[in-house]
Amino acid sequence: MELLTKQDEALISAARAAICRNYDDVHFRHTVGAAVRCGSGAVYTGVNVYSIHGACAEQVAMGAAITNGERVFEAIVAVRGRDGGELLPPCGNCRQLLADYAPECGVILSVSGVPQKIPAKDLLPFAYHTED
Ligand SMILES: [Zn+2]
Repeated sequence: MELLTKQDEALISAARAAICRNYDDVHFRHTVGAAVRCGSGAVYTGVNVYSIHGACAEQVAMGAAITNGERVFEAIVAVRGRDGGELLPPCGNCRQLLADYAPECGVILSVSGVPQKIPAKDLLPFAYHTED
């Protein structure tokens, strides 16, 4: 567990900006924004894309980063709400995605009201892994 840096605060702001620009709780249910900071220093954002199996905001942000050639992920955060005011922990599916792609990535979330950063691998003990 680590406390947040100024870069982490900027990442939260980027996630908030993404959902504030795209919030829609009526038609497409865009209610979550996410941002991932990569080893290059670039930040990619996403919002959730609703369908029966969804695509979480973290998945959209990670997909954008990977599409742009990123392979090293330093930190990721998701926020929920019209103002992005709620730090949202990743769902089980996103924990698996992060365990696969970014086990060392710091996941920013709130524990008992205290924002902190926890390595993705620690959020999914005994994770499923494909055979090598
Ligand atoms: Zn998710």
